Amino acid sequence: MENTSGNKKQKFKFYQLGLVGLLALLAVGFFDNPMKAKTKLEAKNVTIIENEAITFKFWTWFTADETKDDAYYRQEFKKYKENGFHAVLINTGTDADLLKKVAPFATEVGLEVHAWMFTVNRPGDKIAEKHPEWYAVSRDGKSCYDQPPYVGYYKWLCPTREESRDHILSLVSGLAAVDGVASVHLDYIRYSDIFLPIGLLPKYNLEQNTELPRFDFCYCDVCLAAFEEEHHKNPKDFEHPEIDIEWKNFRLNKVKSIVDEAYEIAHENGKLLTSAVFPYPEMADHMVRQRWDKWNVDVVLPMIYHGFYNEELDWIGYATKQGVADLKGRQTELHTGLYLPDFDDKTLEKAILIAKKNGAKGVSVFDGPALKDNQLQVIKKLSKKFNP
Ligand SMILES: [Zn+2]
Repeated sequence: MENTSGNKKQKFKFYQLGLVGLLALLAVGFFDNPMKAKTKLEAKNVTIIENEAITFKFWTWFTADETKDDAYYRQEFKKYKENGFHAVLINTGTDADLLKKVAPFATEVGLEVHAWMFTVNRPGDKIAEKHPEWYAVSRDGKSCYDQPPYVGYYKWLCPTREESRDHILSLVSGLAAVDGVASVHLDYIRYSDIFLPIGLLPKYNLEQNTELPRFDFCYCDVCLAAFEEEHHKNPKDFEHPEIDIEWKNFRLNKVKSIVDEAYEIAHENGKLLTSAVFPYPEMADHMVRQRWDKWNVDVVLPMIYHGFYNEELDWIGYATKQGVADLKGRQTELHTGLYLPDFDDKTLEKAILIAKKNGAKGVSVFDGPALKDNQLQVIKKLSKKFNP
């Protein structure tokens, strides 16, 4: 929120600018959050990419692949740019060198680049694999190191242990140091799902009516000791750990602590911090112990994937609106994440309009290579309309 003296200053500027200047400012979205974010970031010496003024931003997630050649990246990024996208979130498996190689192909066509990383879930992490004790342990004593829940790539680290935490933050530093990157983008910044999205349960032949020990983390020695020291009780002794609010809150705060530290690292490197999160804070809290409305983060991209939850299109508006309301008073922007396989061109257009109407500052689609021609046309049309 702007303070009063700031508003006076703006008014003064408006008189000087005259009507044409004022209209021009309105046209480029002077009143939209990017300006607020910029002011905040300028104070912290953070520079953001000054591309064309964007009033409603279009993003897409994209995974780099070492086997692909330069022409592939050039062609893919050109396609996004030509169809109205402004930003691409690039996953390089936290490989900063691969990011240095791939990012210029995106920036040279005028796309903003965000360094997308798997944060607490670290499949294929060669350094972490040397330390089995870094991995999260379930209530029934199984480590994600060798007995991951649900799927083989669920290699969750313990967010409390100093060594695993430091490792995660060192990866944030590595990506934040890459030139030309606008943000470090935290994905899988949470605990493993205590409840899976309802639409995915049949796939795993599961019923989850309560918090099951197999999916409840982290009960490693370090977590239990840290909690006991603070609260004088041990979650191992709880008959119903799901109703102990300190135990829940302890875990929410462990995630927040990593985010807030990553935020400092990103900003020290002149970058923003962005994150892919669950649909809205209460739901994120319930399903994955993630309370993102309390984080220090510049932009959240909630994955409002209605198909995962057997919901209808209007739910995208409900979740967007709830997240926007929960962020009130904070300088975090919300851009709605959409899952492409759930849409044809008509429903995609509707979903984007719904997200915008409910307060989103943009949309991000998963993922870039999955975009069909008719979906690209929708993005191109709306991007032009919203960003004249
Ligand atoms: Zn632990």
